[in-house]
Amino acid sequence: MRLKGKVAVVTGGARGIGKEIALLYAKEGADVAVGDVNSAEAENTAKEIEGLGRKSLELLLDVTDYDKVEEAVNKILDKFGRIDILVNNAGITKDNLLLRMSQAEWDAVLSVNLKGTFNCTKAVSRIMLKQRSGKIINIASIIGIMGNVGQANYAASKAGIIALTKTAARELASRNINVNAVAPGFIQTDMTAKLSEELKGKMLSQIPLNRLGMPEDVARLCVFLASSDADYITGQTVVLDGGMVMV
Ligand code: NAP
Repeated sequence: MRLKGKVAVVTGGARGIGKEIALLYAKEGADVAVGDVNSAEAENTAKEIEGLGRKSLELLLDVTDYDKVEEAVNKILDKFGRIDILVNNAGITKDNLLLRMSQAEWDAVLSVNLKGTFNCTKAVSRIMLKQRSGKIINIASIIGIMGNVGQANYAASKAGIIALTKTAARELASRNINVNAVAPGFIQTDMTAKLSEELKGKMLSQIPLNRLGMPEDVARLCVFLASSDADYITGQTVVLDGGMVMV
C-alpha cells in the first residue's frame, strides 16, 4: 500500500498501459480518476478500480483541449479534494515516412502526445503548487531517444516530453513537486499489436532480455516514481526496455 490515501489522475487510462497503471495505483491504495476519449472503456476501468475497494471517477477527456482539461481537474477536485499524482499517459501514433507524412499526421501526434502532456501538467501543477507536493510522471518512449524510421512525429513528440519533463522539474522543484519521465521500449498493447510479425521479430532480436515488455512492467515503475521512495528523484527519464537502449 505504497500510495495509501493518495489521489491519482491517469490520462488515457481506459486501456493498455494507462489502465494497468490505474489498477496498480488502486491496489497500492490510491483513489484514481481515469481520463480518456474512450469513455466506455474508461467506465470499465473505473468499475474495476471500485471493485478493488478504492474510489474512482471516469472522465470523458480529450487532453488536446485545455478548457476540457481544466473542467476535468475541477471535477476531480470536487470529488476528491486534491490531486497528488498525475500520469500523462495518453498517446497515439500515426506512422509514415518523413516525405509521405501529412500535416494532419504530424499535428495529430504532436497535439495529443506533447500538447496534451503540457495541458494536463499546467492544469494539475496549479493544484500541486498550492498543496506544496505532487508527483508528475510523463510516459515518453525510447523512440524519443533513439528515433525510428516512419515515426518522425512520434519521436519528436516523445523527445519533446523528455525536455518538458526537465523544465517542469526545475520550475516545480521548490514546491516539492517531482516530475519524471518513463521511456518504455516495446510493450505488448493494442498500440504494438498492429505491427507486422516481421517487425515484431526484428524488435525482439534487439532486446537483450529477450521478451517484450508488459504493461505491468511500466505500471510497477510508475508506482515507484509516484511513491515516497522516489522523493529525491526529479527531472529524470527512466528507460524501461529490456536493455534495447543503453545510454
Ligand atoms: P493504447 O493501448 O493505444 O492506449 C492509449 C489510450 O489513450 C487509449 O485509451 C486512447 O483512447 C487514449 N487516448 C488517445 N488519444 C487521447 C486523447 N486525445 N485524450 C485522452 N486519451 C486519449 O496505447 P498504449 O500502448 O497503452 O500506450 C500508452 C502510452 O505509452 C502512450 O503515450 C504511448 O506512446 C506510450 N508508449 C507505448 C509503448 C508500447 O510499446 N505500447 C512504448 C513506449 C511508449 P482510444 O481507445 O479512443 O484510442
